[in-house]
Amino acid sequence: MTTVLGCIADDFTGATDLAGLLARSGVRVSLRIGVPDAPPSDPAAFEVIALKCRTAPVAEVVAECRAALKWLQAAGAKRFFWKYCSTFDSTPQGNIGPVAEALMADLGTDQTIYCPAFPENGRAIFMGNLFVGESPLAESPMKDHPLTPMRDSNLMRLLAPQVTKPVGLANRLTVAKGPDALRARLADLAGQGVAHVVVDAVANEDLYTIAEACREMPLITGGSAIAMPLPALYLADGTLSAKAPRVQKPDLPPETILLSGSCSAMTRAQVAAYPGPKYRLDPLLLAAQGPQAARDWLAAQDLTQAPLIYATAEPEVVRIAQAQLGTAAAGEVVERALATLATAARDMGARRFVVAGGETSGAVTQALAVRLLTIGAEIAPGVPWCFADSAGQPIAITLKSGNFGTESFFADALERLTA
Ligand code: ADP
Repeated sequence: MTTVLGCIADDFTGATDLAGLLARSGVRVSLRIGVPDAPPSDPAAFEVIALKCRTAPVAEVVAECRAALKWLQAAGAKRFFWKYCSTFDSTPQGNIGPVAEALMADLGTDQTIYCPAFPENGRAIFMGNLFVGESPLAESPMKDHPLTPMRDSNLMRLLAPQVTKPVGLANRLTVAKGPDALRARLADLAGQGVAHVVVDAVANEDLYTIAEACREMPLITGGSAIAMPLPALYLADGTLSAKAPRVQKPDLPPETILLSGSCSAMTRAQVAAYPGPKYRLDPLLLAAQGPQAARDWLAAQDLTQAPLIYATAEPEVVRIAQAQLGTAAAGEVVERALATLATAARDMGARRFVVAGGETSGAVTQALAVRLLTIGAEIAPGVPWCFADSAGQPIAITLKSGNFGTESFFADALERLTA
């Protein structure tokens, strides 16, 4: 199998989101954590490389993305997708524009599109302005983001300082006329030397028009939603064979561990609603005594009962720990403990892992030495089961960030895997 679409994502949960949407097609999707050291062997039709480069220095990020592109080209990909956040999280320096420009140069292409819209999640673009629900981006909570405060809603103005070539717009009136009108507009802009085209999308049908018009482009950039129609289009035009390998669900023993380091409101409700055995980690005790008490509790558990170990706590409890230990140190002590407990559970025979929390997921996958995930069934929108290898053992793992899923997420996850 050669890769049909090679994707580069600027953060881990964004990569999972994109991989999950592509996997709805049933075709095999592989998610790699970081650029693999080894050249591709047995690449999937859809390959997603997850980087952590939203706010890292531009030159470093560009080099990493170019290395990712090279790897994906070696996997056979001719078309590429640069995935960033649906709220266009970036600074005046980048990294959305500089990466796109570097990839375009390497691919020898002189135009790409920018479409972070995700109508189902309330992200829409109209006349080049990005909306979060009914608010312009710059009036949404994103205006106060600690790392990438978004103080303008106009994507052309946001993008212009990040790139060297001209920026333009294909607006909703054009998109509403269909793929041919959009292709004509893009060609017209290309004739004027416009390399970077923001494309409006306010509804799902716009995404289909854009995907249809742009599916031959060497590089598409955007949020995950614009990639959603691509598998069906590639299957219909034969780019992707109907015989492309499907996901193989491994037959795994029932031993399960649930680990939660997320303190988001939804995760708190999910932990409270979980009916199985539970153990609460206290960062202050962990800092003083280490994770031995939690290890002892774990060692006494029957893993077929899917025990849950959590540091999840109410904001005032988190604040107390942070005040005493420092915010970063409180987070680290929890992440380290959950990472240790994940490997301990694996060594006790756990083969099914449910992990809540974006940062927590990073710490746990690193501890389990997971670098390659094959995407399986979705448990909740944007949260798929994944299949991987840890210390030579096949495992299933799901990585849920903050507010994803409904209250019954943990039970849903266990049920979905056996369904
Ligand atoms: P989310 O996806 O909800 O943002 P993350 O795992 O990304 O979750 O972030 C949660 C952070 O809070 C982690 O660094 C975690 O270690 C930390 N943390 C979890 N529980 C506590 C707690 N009780 N006190 C302080 N920090 C905590």
